[in-house]
Amino acid sequence: MIIVLKQGTQQKEIDSLTELIVGEGLQVAPIVGSDLTILGLTGDTSRLDDSRLESFRCVDRVMHVAEPFKKANRMFHPANTTVKINDNLEIGGKKLAIMAGPCSVEGKDQICGIARDVKASGANVLRGGAFKPRTSPYAFQGLKYQGLDLLCEAKAATGLPIVSELMSPYDIDIFMDKVDIIQVGARNMQNFDLLRQLGKVDKPILLKRGLSATIEEWLMSAEYILSGGNEKVILCERGIRTFETYTRNTVDLGAIPAVKKLSHLPVIVDPSHSTGKWWMVESVARAAVAVGADGLMIEVHNDPAHALCDGQQSIKPDLFDKVMQDVRKIAAVVDREV
Ligand code: PEP
Ligand code: MN
Repeated sequence: MIIVLKQGTQQKEIDSLTELIVGEGLQVAPIVGSDLTILGLTGDTSRLDDSRLESFRCVDRVMHVAEPFKKANRMFHPANTTVKINDNLEIGGKKLAIMAGPCSVEGKDQICGIARDVKASGANVLRGGAFKPRTSPYAFQGLKYQGLDLLCEAKAATGLPIVSELMSPYDIDIFMDKVDIIQVGARNMQNFDLLRQLGKVDKPILLKRGLSATIEEWLMSAEYILSGGNEKVILCERGIRTFETYTRNTVDLGAIPAVKKLSHLPVIVDPSHSTGKWWMVESVARAAVAVGADGLMIEVHNDPAHALCDGQQSIKPDLFDKVMQDVRKIAAVVDREV
């Protein structure tokens, strides 16, 4: 439920209205805009009568939010949310977030070399998996804590902030210490215990779309994090499972304008996991920027043929450089920059 207040409403009127709402066991989030102040209500609003609220002179109108996601809803937060990563990057702002790096951290030379290459081409975040969610328990599972340390070395060498996937709530403290953006992978998009814990931390969360998740389910997962108090959520479209088997997943580029309409959260696209084929990454990256994505996450490897994970969809640094040149041109057309 949303309460739109009249212009010029005094703080004491907001306080007494808030008291009534909180007394009914609901939560209130005031959103003060330049010409509109609204109160976003979450919780069970069924006991709260519209007419009771409208009897307050400061109330202009009461609106019901049909969607089950509230804090993630654009009605609750009409302006775009931006998530500040460092002095160079605010995700959701004019500048695109370009996250690039290997699927998995494999060693010091590998991660530091790739970090230098992708930075030189224009990436502003280094990606690298340390804990890998693999379908087979016999497949390479990542360098784990050592992988995080190597990412920190690559950050120290290049200045690039780090994004890496967290799989277990037990590792939150170490991720808080070592990474700049915590990634929740597609397989954990509905790990609600993990999402609840991430709602309590002060760290940007990159929430990938689940393997077969609808847009609404994805936004409900974001709602878990937002409702806990962490408002730094970035969404990532990474393809969904459909009847098509030629590509690893089916990239849902229509989800970008849909998310932009439904929500205020920034959303990026991962053309690597979306397609599963290195030669498709360039064209899907271009399309993603054209359709309004706030950034990209791209797997880059110096030697894809020998990569320990996802070599088939990883591009080499020289092709990444070409992708960045393309993306720069498209970004200018859609009033964005790299
Ligand atoms: C990844 O980015 O390394 C990854 C495993 O992606 P996803 O969760 O989208 O499969
Ligand atoms: Mn991968």
